[in-house]
Amino acid sequence: MKNTPYRGRFAPSPTGPLHFGSLMTAMGSYLAARSQNGQWLLRMEDLDPPREIAGAADDILHTLEAHHLHWDGPVFYQSQRLSAYDDALAQLAREGHSFPCRCTRKAIAEQRSTRSSQAAHFDACREGLPEGIATRTVRVRSGDTPIHIDDILHGPQEPYPSREVGDFIVRRADGLHAYHLAAVVDDAHQGITEIVRGADLLDCTPPQVHLQQLLGLQHPRYCHLPIAVNSRGEKLSKQTHAPAIARQTPGPNLYQALCFLGQMPNPALANEPPDTILRWAVAHWNVNNINKHNQVVA
Ligand code: GLU
Repeated sequence: MKNTPYRGRFAPSPTGPLHFGSLMTAMGSYLAARSQNGQWLLRMEDLDPPREIAGAADDILHTLEAHHLHWDGPVFYQSQRLSAYDDALAQLAREGHSFPCRCTRKAIAEQRSTRSSQAAHFDACREGLPEGIATRTVRVRSGDTPIHIDDILHGPQEPYPSREVGDFIVRRADGLHAYHLAAVVDDAHQGITEIVRGADLLDCTPPQVHLQQLLGLQHPRYCHLPIAVNSRGEKLSKQTHAPAIARQTPGPNLYQALCFLGQMPNPALANEPPDTILRWAVAHWNVNNINKHNQVVA
């Protein structure tokens, strides 16, 4: 994908308002794209109604706009893409890459703990379900060959999906499409060349690259940004009661996110309007200045 024009994306889940950590991720992916004259797309990952909060999607969009983080084209909603995910599921089944599984998470943990080998396969269901046994989920067979990932910040890695990932779910027990499946189908559909997201999703990369290979999809580059954590080392999130980012103070918020990303802005920028800060940040963006380790945000 060397000569393909850069296309990046920010892909929030509408499970709550943006907090400092998610604003920083949005800003990192925005700056990576704009500094390479690339496009920056917005994908709303509204694929999990039980976890979603009414109004959160619009709230996220308003917060991005308040920070002048303007995306290209219309917002892309995963809830409108279910037939594309069904097609991918059908392809995986047709080509023998997936299988119906009866195991609960607890059963799998038990299988793993009683297993002597490192393999994370669930042999019983892999060979086909006995007659009369109901399918809970659909899983993808993890491969025995290593996957090559060259993360811009975290360097090269060669995980073995069979050992480190196991056979992972592409259709959940509640019938919903799984995040990994939707993400790879949409990254390919949207022509994403580089995925810039939080390091909490580092573990998602091997199954996603494996799926790209099985589905014959293009393989974007990856850059996993450090995570903002609280004083207990927990990722800022709705679960850890991270406060919503204040829309009234976009300049100081952007300035703080730039500092977090190691970009060393001139302190005078802190009081400038968002456009001035963003212009400076695009012109000076340097991925080598990012500290890849998680950092505490007061
Ligand atoms: N929707 C995911 C989240 O909010 C991000 C997915 C991605 O960037 O691949 O954590």
